[in-house]
Amino acid sequence: MSEQTPDNERTPMITPSEVLEHVYCPRFTWFMSVQNIPQHEETRFKVLKGREVHQRRATENRDYLRRKIGAVKREIEVYLASPVLRLRGIVDEVLWLNDGTMAPLDYKYTESRDAVFKTHETQIMMYAMLIREIYQQPVTRGFVAYVRNGNQLLEVPISEEKMAKVRLLIREIFDIINTGRLPSRTSSKLRCEDCCYKNICV
Ligand code: SF4
Repeated sequence: MSEQTPDNERTPMITPSEVLEHVYCPRFTWFMSVQNIPQHEETRFKVLKGREVHQRRATENRDYLRRKIGAVKREIEVYLASPVLRLRGIVDEVLWLNDGTMAPLDYKYTESRDAVFKTHETQIMMYAMLIREIYQQPVTRGFVAYVRNGNQLLEVPISEEKMAKVRLLIREIFDIINTGRLPSRTSSKLRCEDCCYKNICV
């Protein structure tokens, strides 16, 4: 990894899970990081990731997927941290492609599908930003492999516009953490129904 992005534990950094929770409802950020009230253990995204880590062992020999992508080199379960982006996380694979670019690859243990889940796309966007920042190499696409019932490999184009949206989300999160400001509720009332904060969220 580049010397320009040392992992400095004193620099506040958030994880892709925290960004996805914020997207789900900005008040999650406030309850967790301002009020310091943790979610139940069965947190949506963390548990999902936990299961994936467990099941990932079965995917370590998926060389044909990497060949399909045109990968010439890979690193597995890479911890990426950038104080510049204020982001840190572990990506399933960092790939070096035969066109001179690099790409993140993440495995998902859900059914095959035709399009990438929005949350998975956002996650890939964050890993792409981290790889670009840390390795100082171009990243034009990322990949999600849905491997529960087969090997559905989907490409995620990386765009400046989507990366700018992620940077905005990260700014919003740090703004809440730094000011303590109570953000708006989620626009979807359905989400409140099974929310662990519903009894204290006014
Ligand atoms: S109850 Fe609704 S608005 Fe409040 S934190 Fe939960 S999802 Fe967000």
